[in-house]
Amino acid sequence: MRNIVLFVGASTLAGLPACASAPEPAPRATSTPTASAASSAASIPAVPTAPNEKNPLLEKWTGPFGGVPPFAQVKIESFEAVILAGMDEQRREIDAIAKTPAAPTFDNTIAAMEDMGRTLDRVMVFYGVWAATMNGAEFQAIERAMAPKLAAFSDEITQNEALFKRIEAIYNSPDKAKLTPEQQRLVWRRYTSFVRAGAKLDAAAKKRVAEINQRLASLYTNFSQNVLADEENYIVVIEKEADLEGLPESVRAAAAAVAKTKGMEGKWVITNTRSSVEPFLTYSTRDDLREKVWKNFVSRGDNGDARDNKKIISEILKLRAERAKLLGYETHAHLGLENAMGKTPERAMGRMEEVWPAAVSRVREEVADMQALANKAGLKRKIQPWDYRFYAEKVRKAKYNLDENEVKPYLQLEKLREGMFWVAEQLFGFTFAPVSNVEVVHPDVRVFEVKDKSSGKHVGIWYFDPYARKGKRSGAWMTAYRMQERFKGEVTTIVSNNSNFVKGKEGEPILISWSDAQTLFHEFGHALHGLSSNVTYPSLAGTRVARDYVEFPSQLLEHWLSTPELLEKFAVHYQTGKPMPKELAAKIEKAATFNQGFGTVEYLSSALVDMKLHLAGDKDIDAGAFERDTLKALGMPSEIVMRHRTPQFSHVFAGDGYSAGYYSYLWSDTLTADAYNAFTEAKGPYDAAVAERLRKHVFSVGDTIDPAEGYRAFRGKDAGTEALMKKRGFVTKGAKKLAGKK
Ligand SMILES: [Zn+2]
Repeated sequence: MRNIVLFVGASTLAGLPACASAPEPAPRATSTPTASAASSAASIPAVPTAPNEKNPLLEKWTGPFGGVPPFAQVKIESFEAVILAGMDEQRREIDAIAKTPAAPTFDNTIAAMEDMGRTLDRVMVFYGVWAATMNGAEFQAIERAMAPKLAAFSDEITQNEALFKRIEAIYNSPDKAKLTPEQQRLVWRRYTSFVRAGAKLDAAAKKRVAEINQRLASLYTNFSQNVLADEENYIVVIEKEADLEGLPESVRAAAAAVAKTKGMEGKWVITNTRSSVEPFLTYSTRDDLREKVWKNFVSRGDNGDARDNKKIISEILKLRAERAKLLGYETHAHLGLENAMGKTPERAMGRMEEVWPAAVSRVREEVADMQALANKAGLKRKIQPWDYRFYAEKVRKAKYNLDENEVKPYLQLEKLREGMFWVAEQLFGFTFAPVSNVEVVHPDVRVFEVKDKSSGKHVGIWYFDPYARKGKRSGAWMTAYRMQERFKGEVTTIVSNNSNFVKGKEGEPILISWSDAQTLFHEFGHALHGLSSNVTYPSLAGTRVARDYVEFPSQLLEHWLSTPELLEKFAVHYQTGKPMPKELAAKIEKAATFNQGFGTVEYLSSALVDMKLHLAGDKDIDAGAFERDTLKALGMPSEIVMRHRTPQFSHVFAGDGYSAGYYSYLWSDTLTADAYNAFTEAKGPYDAAVAERLRKHVFSVGDTIDPAEGYRAFRGKDAGTEALMKKRGFVTKGAKKLAGKK
């Protein structure tokens, strides 16, 4: 699964720190498992802002499209004050709801909660954007100060007894049956998220949960800042051109450009991020340099220095286990899975263990192919982890006559962006037009208005922040600045896609790899999920769905990259303008399952370690030893390392969002593979009727219905693993039909 992408980071309150991150406002304790718990208002300091002092970040957004975020108005030093002011406003709103004299009703409590915390939500958009894309020493100090305060605020809400009593009364009332299905689901989500955060605990347990959450928030921030520091500091500087042997021109140009920004003009710098490391490992003919670059990358957070994350991990695991126990769950994994599509750790493990042996045996074949080829070329040793990408590329050439460098000239970033727009138009009837009257956080960011083609109606706005820069987290992700809603008037969504493409020479088109193109489509899939949202209440909108369902729309969209219709129009050569030759497209198609053993094992080993760490309970865990022992027991091939080793596993340790949840990508991909078959079994990828079913039951519904039901409505059946195994080129014999679930 090369298309897995990194995530936003630790700063979101209860956020989904995944590649799809809808801003998760503190107040809306939602289905995110351990989002929030409890604390006392007494621990919150008084708001320091003078009442008359107006900060533009506290105001409603103005300008076109129902208002847009005034990014140019942000002053880092005012973050603390505006966050505290937003909290204070929300505190008053909650107090008003909790103390309403009238008996609790859906309108005066649940709907009222949907309308609270608007100011803090807006403020947190800026905070999230700065954390993910404009980070630096000054901001990091603020993050460290604010993380525990934000956690405490979240707990303050879920531990508000008067408020919870009202929610509970509505949840238990026979009148609930009179509400719309969407309203009933919102009541269920509110109620369960409060309970899961500790609303029913006694005072002492609530206090402890709150303490745990605040400590965890600080640990997440430290973890995340340590990884970022190791990505920025452990670089490889290349002094001589001869040391670039094997690297294609685009990789050389990117490395030279990075050196220039670091004041090392004339040299080449390989930064310690995935987008920089992977091409180097694929092409460099220098064993020693590949080893050096690889070691830097897999050692992030694991260097035994002040930035080492292993002790932080031990403490995080211990606190999570204690919290789960307090909340009445066997382990943190049981807590995390309960409201996801997977439901139990056992089911998630079952799915992973079903795929693992096939993936490992494919790796054995891949390694044998590579070893034979390497021996012929004179290699006198066994394939090592820093060799895998290099020799895999050679095997690809030998077996499929396919060279990544032959493909790249046809993959221009801007053309592919146009291609994504075209797919969105074909499938969902969206049109995109650039707008210039909107403030952006950095000159690299571009903004597009999205409209419905048939009605001409405004749908939302899409921000595109494509390039790497200092202070921006690595990887790619989608985030929402505003959720779609309509319960108090029509509000359209604002979404953004972020990635880390390295700018090449000025004025030249940026050529990207096939797997980067897949990632581009993946993130755009999240954006379309957000843009298609058609719900009443913001807490249920867009990508605010179960975490093992949220990767389904995004992974599905990747499939349209390789459709002949798209390649014909948009995969055009950057010099000749000619479309990708049919033979080349056919070779790509034929090689689609190539190296899937590597991709699946690299991913699944991370997902299995994640789950096992969180099933271990409150034992003392040494992160290094646990990883080694678990991988040994699994029979991890020695030629591969985990895609995210424990000390750099930000999905899991920079926040709660994907903890015991990294399996979600596999879970979602099971749906993805099966769902794409709905198209191929009909008239093909652009079948309008299937696309309409997809929009109606999957992309537009947010979390207004149970995802398993939504999927069944789209597909007419549950997804088994056959399609997934086939998609990855694994033996399908014995792939079990998975039981349907409720
Ligand atoms: Zn994603």
